[in-house]
Amino acid sequence: MPKVAFSKENIGKCLCGECPVQVQSTCAKEKYAEAQKVQGMPTPEQVPGLYCSSGKATCQDLRWVEHCLCPGCLVWAENSLKTNHYCSRGSADQSE
Ligand code: SF4
Ligand code: SF4
Repeated sequence: MPKVAFSKENIGKCLCGECPVQVQSTCAKEKYAEAQKVQGMPTPEQVPGLYCSSGKATCQDLRWVEHCLCPGCLVWAENSLKTNHYCSRGSADQSE
């Protein structure tokens, strides 16, 4: 049950923004645009990614059946994560 840190460094490594599950999501695009304007550390609700740390996505227009990029992510390797689709399953400490 790894607890992944919600940090700027991990947000930078996260591949969720390029993932087929949410690459077409209008909601996620809007959230990314807003998150870029945030001074300092954004809250988990403001970041449409790093779901292995923050838990299920709040956007509802994701295509859950598409392929998840998590197993190719540095955060996944560094935290010895084992599964995928954290945007749907919830955070790693809850779902692994
Ligand atoms: S958790 Fe996996 S499936 Fe969900 S957006 Fe991120 S890379 Fe894609
Ligand atoms: S393991 Fe998945 S959810 Fe976690 S930082 Fe990487 S791409 Fe994002």
